[in-house]
Amino acid sequence: MDLKAMFNIQYGLFVCSTQDQGMDNACIVNTFSQVTANPNRVMVIINKQNHTHDMIMNSQVFTCMPITVNADFSLFERFGFQSGKSVNKFTKTKATRISNQTLILNTDEINSYITANVIQSVDCETHTMFIADVEDCQVLNHVESCTYNYYQSKIKPQPQATLSKGWRCTICGYVYDKEVLPDDYICPICKHGIEVFEKI
Ligand code: FE
Repeated sequence: MDLKAMFNIQYGLFVCSTQDQGMDNACIVNTFSQVTANPNRVMVIINKQNHTHDMIMNSQVFTCMPITVNADFSLFERFGFQSGKSVNKFTKTKATRISNQTLILNTDEINSYITANVIQSVDCETHTMFIADVEDCQVLNHVESCTYNYYQSKIKPQPQATLSKGWRCTICGYVYDKEVLPDDYICPICKHGIEVFEKI
């Protein structure tokens, strides 16, 4: 078995937001897609360690926004590399409230939004899959959506060539500068596990 086959799956990138008990929060996800067209049903898969996960569990509603190729790396830092448990991710972000539970980002960074009500939650051990019916969706502009590959090659800062040993997080570029990567190691920046680290 060659696990690198999993890296050949193409993904989009999205900001997934929700509101619970008057608080807004959001995280970056690559696992959002349409399930059926009629009824218009979508799914998003969220890591249980994300604060957004627990908030969707409570609110049963989320909004996914396709990130555009014009988005800056700072978008990924704001929504992907810090936890909503410790910071309000929207304090440094221009956002517009569309409805009670829908807060959308600046249109420089996203091209659409899709708000959906959860109808089923599937426990996937480390993650939960939320299956949801679309309540509202709008196109905001026609800028191309950012794929995961585009993020890796064009948006993420490229690693420095001077480092000669250790492990590099392929998501955010963080370098763990020791020879052996512990099995339970979690990236301190983006919180992904050892499966996303590559040997330098
Ligand atoms: Fe990382």
